[in-house]
Amino acid sequence: MKGGGEAGAQIRARNWEETPLGNPANWPSCIRLSLSLCLNSSFPISMYWGADYHVFYNDAYKDIAGDRHPGIMGKPRKEAWPETWQEIQPQFDAVMSTGNSIRNKDKRFLIHRFGFIEECYFDFTLSPIADEDGNICGVFNAVMETTYQIINERRNHILQQLNLQLHNFQTGEHGYSEAISLLQRFKHDIPFSLLYKYDALTDTFTLTQYAGLTIEQAGQAGWPLKETIVSGVHAVVGGLEAKIRHFDFGDMPVAGLQAIAIPLKYGEDSTTGVFIAGLNTLIRLDDSYKQFLESVAFQIGASINNGVNFEKEKLRTDQIKYSEDQLQFAIDAAGLGTWDLDPFTNRFTGNNRLKSWFGLQPDAEIDLSQALNGIIDTDRPLVVSAIQEAMTFGSGGNYQIEYAIVNPLDPTPRMVRAKGKALFDNEQQITRFSGTLQDITAERKTLDALERAYEQARLSKEAAQLGTFDMDLIKGTMEWDERCRLLFGISHHNKVSYEADFLPGLHILDRERISTIINKAFDKAESNGDYDVEYRTVGVEDNQLRWVRAKGKVFFDEQDEPIRFVGSVLEITNEKLNEIRKNDFIGMVSHELKTPLTSLKAYVQVLNARSRKEGNSFAISSLNKVELQINKMSALINGFLNLSRLESGKIHLNRLDFRVDDLISEIIEESTLVVSTHQIKLLPSDAVVINADRDKIGQVITNLISNAVKYSPRGEVVELACKQVEDTVQVSVRDDGMGIRLQDRDKLFERFYRVESAHTENISGFGIGLYLSAEIIKRHGGEIWVESEKGVGSTFYFSLPVQFTERSI
Ligand code: ADP
Repeated sequence: MKGGGEAGAQIRARNWEETPLGNPANWPSCIRLSLSLCLNSSFPISMYWGADYHVFYNDAYKDIAGDRHPGIMGKPRKEAWPETWQEIQPQFDAVMSTGNSIRNKDKRFLIHRFGFIEECYFDFTLSPIADEDGNICGVFNAVMETTYQIINERRNHILQQLNLQLHNFQTGEHGYSEAISLLQRFKHDIPFSLLYKYDALTDTFTLTQYAGLTIEQAGQAGWPLKETIVSGVHAVVGGLEAKIRHFDFGDMPVAGLQAIAIPLKYGEDSTTGVFIAGLNTLIRLDDSYKQFLESVAFQIGASINNGVNFEKEKLRTDQIKYSEDQLQFAIDAAGLGTWDLDPFTNRFTGNNRLKSWFGLQPDAEIDLSQALNGIIDTDRPLVVSAIQEAMTFGSGGNYQIEYAIVNPLDPTPRMVRAKGKALFDNEQQITRFSGTLQDITAERKTLDALERAYEQARLSKEAAQLGTFDMDLIKGTMEWDERCRLLFGISHHNKVSYEADFLPGLHILDRERISTIINKAFDKAESNGDYDVEYRTVGVEDNQLRWVRAKGKVFFDEQDEPIRFVGSVLEITNEKLNEIRKNDFIGMVSHELKTPLTSLKAYVQVLNARSRKEGNSFAISSLNKVELQINKMSALINGFLNLSRLESGKIHLNRLDFRVDDLISEIIEESTLVVSTHQIKLLPSDAVVINADRDKIGQVITNLISNAVKYSPRGEVVELACKQVEDTVQVSVRDDGMGIRLQDRDKLFERFYRVESAHTENISGFGIGLYLSAEIIKRHGGEIWVESEKGVGSTFYFSLPVQFTERSI
């Protein structure tokens, strides 16, 4: 027994006399021979002989023996490896009894040799050691440990599966929710696994998946999540058997449960979660175990990353698709032609719309020179030079031009606007030139028509000497044209404003009235934005008085807030002055006519008294008729006088309290004296007191009664009524006369308006009675209106507020 390294030396040094095997010199020669073979082999070999299968092994076997070397040398097999003896003894016995050798391939043993119970795999043979006579003296055991290989294969299989199945996540979330489920199948190598997602914004972790542990158990360990993320490297967490309660260890020894926490990384360096893998206590935590788990984490990270990328990519393609759709939609909606010129081939392509404009078929392909032929001769050179310009690098590549195209199928020229952009590469070489074509024929026509219309408007405005104003109520600005400025005596072109120019420019007597009307125009509910006024201005620069008629419209937003106020102004000074002169004239004439009429009436009354005394009945009846005519005449003259007073603003209201029904009764009494054709009566009425000008309201009632009589020649009754309706008193005068057509009804209250018809032609009048009545009622803050049916009769109404307040006009 020479050589054999350390093992050989150990065997030689041992005093075998003390053992049941006795002096080596007496060992069977086949054993000694085999031992010599064993010790001198570099392949791990052990051999067993003697009644208890005493173990001998060589240096190469020491790695398998682990920390049992050197203690087990020469020990009975059942003492050397007690944990496997029960299982393997039958095989030893079989070799001894049959002399046949047995081969075990990758047999699994759980053995304790490096301080813990380890899952090990061995590939070994058990062969008989026989002497010359064929007697079996021992068992020869050539053995190769395949633990590393087997576990490695298993790990590779897992990684392969992960690789196959984890790559198809379509979102990052999907990765987080699915990745672990696969690992459940590989419980032996990864007894439990957890996936924590990290939210950098809130600096929190969420357990998104868990396998092999419940949520509660996962929470018991106190994982170094933040530390792992911060350090960026894995951390081993031990002592878990004490922390995780009721953990199912399966066939694993209960001691020393560990896990590894590995940061999940996306791309270069962004860490977004932590993968925690439990470690099988039967498997040595060596670099290869760690590397394996790092690979698993890498796979999961990469898969989630794939999901994230897929998601991003999908979003991007969706967005591109969306923008393409939008673009196409816009192109279609705008009725645009699109074109593209390949600068290398000069090929010109376009959408169907564009082709049809050039008279081409949808599948036609043309080059640039052919396309240019479609452009009318006068425009072509301009287009060519614009294209050349755009295709030159220095130009910036922008192209925009308007021109006309004609095609043989449609000889009317089509005006188009071409817009495009040329793109250049780093060498300043053009790579692409494309753009759109817009049909602007209609736009051009409208524009021309607009220009003409504008010109016409300008001309007629000038002819009519209309000025314009435009107030932007949002910006608070006001625009006046030259003519408008002139009417306010302004010659400069600086900014003007409502407060600084308009209001002060108004005559002091008109200022309050006009600003009230404008405020009303700004109130949609009250005026619908309509504005139609006459006022006086006093020129700021020339101090001249001018009369102005202004008409305009206020525009409102959706909330009915005024936003713009536009309109025109017209000078009416001459007309106004003429009217004033006319009114003065009428006033003067009426006044002059009244004086002789008054004395005429006095003389008639004197004559009448005398005739009565004399009992001259012919004279009496003649003089009564004269007096009636004088009364009619003075009523007419009074009408004119009142009109001129009204127009020149000389009417004043002398208010006092009186009962309206009393007034009506009085007037009926007076009227019956002169009216014999009709019965005039007052229906049962309310006793209402108002504060108003008694004489003027009386005039109104008289006028309505006399109209009712005048315009109902065949009627017999005129009925009056006086009622309180809410806060107003309402007076009505009804007749059974000719009635009034709808189209005349609104105009009756206008000055000098008379209905022209066969029925009215013999009835005298000037069309001022209702105008005066309406003015009087309006000045009392009341209303006047008529209801009528042609051929049936009319009822005139007026109402006055019972609480009278004078209305400012
Ligand atoms: P005048 O009676 O002097 O013409 P008014 O101003 O009083 O003037 O009346 C204007 C017009 O209204 C009259 O010309 C007449 O055509 C019409 N009109 C007024 N009252 C009545 C009525 N009760 N029935 C029919 N038509 C009337």
